[in-house]
Amino acid sequence: MHTVILGAGISGLSSAYALGQRRGETYNLYEKEMEIGGLCRTRQQGGFTFDVVSHVLHFRTAAAEQFVHAILDGHLQRIVRNAWIFFRGHYVPYPFQTHLGFLPAGEQASCLWGYARAWVDRQFNGARPPANFGAWIRQHFGAGIAQSFMIPYNTKLWGLPPEEMSADWVSPFVPRISFSQAVAGWLSKRNNEMGYNSSFYYPESGGIQALVNGLASHTHGISLGREVVQVDLDRKTVLFQTGETVPYDRLVSTIPLKALVLSARGIPEDLRRAAAELRSTSLLNVTCCVCHPLPHRYHWVYFPEPEFPFFRLLFPANISPAMVPENCSLVCAEISNPDLTRRDELELQTRELLVSLGMVKRPSDIVSTSCTYLDHAYPVHDLKREALVERLLEFLRSRDVWSVGRFGSWRYSSIDDAIVQALEVAQQISQPGPVEVPDFLA
Ligand SMILES: Cc1cc2nc3c(=O)[nH]c(=O)nc-3n(C[C@H](O)[C@H](O)[C@H](O)COP(=O)(O)OP(=O)(O)OC[C@H]3O[C@@H](n4cnc5c(N)ncnc54)[C@H](O)[C@@H]3O)c2cc1C
Repeated sequence: MHTVILGAGISGLSSAYALGQRRGETYNLYEKEMEIGGLCRTRQQGGFTFDVVSHVLHFRTAAAEQFVHAILDGHLQRIVRNAWIFFRGHYVPYPFQTHLGFLPAGEQASCLWGYARAWVDRQFNGARPPANFGAWIRQHFGAGIAQSFMIPYNTKLWGLPPEEMSADWVSPFVPRISFSQAVAGWLSKRNNEMGYNSSFYYPESGGIQALVNGLASHTHGISLGREVVQVDLDRKTVLFQTGETVPYDRLVSTIPLKALVLSARGIPEDLRRAAAELRSTSLLNVTCCVCHPLPHRYHWVYFPEPEFPFFRLLFPANISPAMVPENCSLVCAEISNPDLTRRDELELQTRELLVSLGMVKRPSDIVSTSCTYLDHAYPVHDLKREALVERLLEFLRSRDVWSVGRFGSWRYSSIDDAIVQALEVAQQISQPGPVEVPDFLA
C-alpha cells in the first residue's frame, strides 16, 4: 500500500513524518513550489530574518506540543503574550472584552451596559444556539462590544459581516468571559491575560522554518516543482504540470480542497458545483526592516478601524531578538483582501502610517520592505461552509482520499491542528499491528 502526499506545508510534512515512523508504510510527497514549508516559510534579507507570514506556536493538545518539542529538540522559547488593540487613538490590551476600563468613558458605559444586558438575557433565556457569528457576538458580549470592536474588526478581517458567517469555528479562538471577568477588567485597569495564545512558543533560531526544516530532516521522497493538475479518482493517479503521472493506493491531500475537487476526475457534478462555492480571504503581508529599535515591547496590535488598511501589525523582533541585527526591528502589516491594483499605494500607505503611529522615526529608517501576497489566507466560515465541506470530505474518504490541513479541510485552524490531523490520518491509514512508535504518534 503506497501513499501519495500532496503539499509540503506543515500538514504534508507531518503526515510524511508520521507515516515514516510506521513499519510497512511507503510514501512520496509532491510540492508545487521549489521550496518546502507552505505558509510556514522564513526569509533572510540583509541580516534580518522574518517569516513570510508571521507565526507563533500555541498548543491545545499535548500530542502536538510533544511533537513540536521533539522535532525542535526542545529549542523553543516560551513567551507571555503582549498584544494590544489600537482603538480611538489609544492602545487597549487584548482581549478587548476583559479590558473595558481602558476604553474612553462613553465607550466604557455602552460596552459594560451591553455586556450586562446580554448576561442577564443568558441567565433568563439560556445560551440559545446562535444563528450566525454576529448573533454569537451579541449573545456573549452584548451590543456595545459588538459595535465598538467585534463587528468592525471581524468584518475587516473576513471581508463579510459576521451575520453572514457561522459560529462553528469561534470557541477556540475568541475568548468568552464570565461576568466577574468583565467587571474586574473594567475596574482593575490591569492587563488580564486570557485566550488560546496568552503564552506561546517560538523557535530559538531560524524562525518558523526551523520547524519545517526539522520535519524535513526526518522525511524523504519529496519532489519539488510538481503542481497537481488532475487527480483521477477512478484510476487512482495524480497528474502534474510536468506531464508525469503517479499512481497511489491512498492519497493524503493538503492542497486547497476547492482546487483538488475542481481538478478531479470522477467527482459528481453536484459536488464540483459545491466546491466552487467555498470562499477564502486573500492577504498582503508587508514586512518592513527598520534600522532602530521600536518604542514598545508589543508582540502584535489589532487595528479594527477602516482608516488603517491593515488589520494587524506584528513585531517579530520583540518576540525573538535573534531575528534582527543589533538595535534593529521588524514590523509586519497584514492587509486582508487587498485590491492588488493598489498594491504599491498600500505599501506606501503602510510605511507612512508606521511613521505617523510613532513606531518608525523617519521613512528612511525602513531600510527594506518585502511584500508577499497569499491568495489563500483564511478559509471563510460562511453559512454554507460546514455542510459543503462535510459532503466533500465524506465523498473523498470513500475514494481513499484524505483531504487535511488548513485549506485541505477548509477550516480556520493553526499549526497544532494541522499536526494533530496529520497524526490522526497516519494512524487511520497505516497497517494495524504491533509497531514501536513514540507516544505522540501512537
Ligand atoms: C496570516 C496567517 C497567520 C497565521 N498565524 C498562525 C500562528 O501564529 N500560529 C499558528 O499555529 N498558525 C498560524 N496560521 C495558520 C498556519 O499557517 C496553518 O495552519 C498551517 O501552516 C497550515 O499548514 P498546511 O500544510 O495545512 O497548509 P499550507 O502551509 O498552505 O501547505 C499547503 C502546501 O500545498 C502546496 N500546494 C498548493 N497547491 C498545490 C498543487 N496544486 N500542487 C502541489 N502542491 C500544492 C502549497 O504550495 C503548500 O506548500 C496562520 C495563517 C495565516 C494565513
